[in-house]
Amino acid sequence: MATLSLKNIEKNFGTFQALRDVNLEIGSAEFICLLGGSGCGKTTLLRIIAGLETPTSGEMLLDGTDLTRVDCHKRNVGMVFQSLALFPHLNVGQNIAYGLELRGVGKAERMARATELLDVVGLSGLSDRPVSALSGGQRQRVAIARALAIQPALFLMDEPFSALDAGLREHLQIEVKKLQRKLGVTTIFVTHDQNEAMSIADRIVILNEGRIEQAGTPTEIYSRPQTRFVADFMGTNNIFTPRFSAGGTVMLDDLPLGTARGAMATLEGRHTVAVRPEYLSLRPAGADSNGLVGTVDFVRLLGASIETELSVGDRKFIHTMVSDRPPEFAVGEKAEIHFDLDHAWIIPS
Ligand code: ATP
Repeated sequence: MATLSLKNIEKNFGTFQALRDVNLEIGSAEFICLLGGSGCGKTTLLRIIAGLETPTSGEMLLDGTDLTRVDCHKRNVGMVFQSLALFPHLNVGQNIAYGLELRGVGKAERMARATELLDVVGLSGLSDRPVSALSGGQRQRVAIARALAIQPALFLMDEPFSALDAGLREHLQIEVKKLQRKLGVTTIFVTHDQNEAMSIADRIVILNEGRIEQAGTPTEIYSRPQTRFVADFMGTNNIFTPRFSAGGTVMLDDLPLGTARGAMATLEGRHTVAVRPEYLSLRPAGADSNGLVGTVDFVRLLGASIETELSVGDRKFIHTMVSDRPPEFAVGEKAEIHFDLDHAWIIPS
């Protein structure tokens, strides 16, 4: 088990700044997901933690020891990449034992450890198989076993499941999470997939243009985004900046969004609000509609729920509801939109 401190990490490639002032404390046995869009710096940060890249400035401490300029192979990290980088000329057992051999562990112990890990990842009995004779999911498990064989202080994974089909990916996410809990190894997992991060992380770190936008539990990130970027990235589709006035009236230009209550009723002026699509409700637009009336642009069935996209002028609204009935509104129909402002979230910055 190990704790990791990243202090003021910066990384420049020529004049391009890939990481800016990254500060992060990772607790022992924590499962962290680095989440962000393409080019935000996730892989660069992971490579710095692994020792495959040196930061331009800043430092990295593992259990209080400064490792910033220590070589990769002296750091005791186990890594799994998207391109698994298994050795094709070695069989499964030899692949798993490879890191132990580099560390001078004797053959009998290497093989015993490989057998134990094969068991852990559910591949018992496959030690002598050539890796070329394995399925994609099996290869992934071999790569995980190989990374864990050295009993690493840090377990690092870079989009390990992104090339797999959805079913296998979900299955391996659950397995990796269970395995990590059982072993208690401090883990950092890079992904660009919000759902993957939500389902496996203890804490999600959202990166944007080389900076940490927010670090928090999946619930905090999902329900209490601290920036507009995080709200957008986590799929809070209804984000506006209406005007609040005394008494709780909330107006989006000339459109009434409803009446705020409680603490929100004391707000004045413009504030950015996120309303999750499940906190909108739709009613048929009647002749006496005095609420917000939108036109249905699109209806999407998502298994157990229905997603409806509406527009009011050039503004878009998204509504979702759990339902096993056919959609209530068809494309082109008018619907009255109601906001549950009790569940609205004011984005602080
Ligand atoms: P992706 O999800 O697309 O892999 P990422 O978040 O992992 O993205 P990085 O690979 O960390 O992003 O790259 C961050 C930025 O740094 C990108 O703009 C990339 O082009 C740049 N970059 C990364 N490595 C180098 C390098 N060796 N030389 C120059 N620029 C680099």
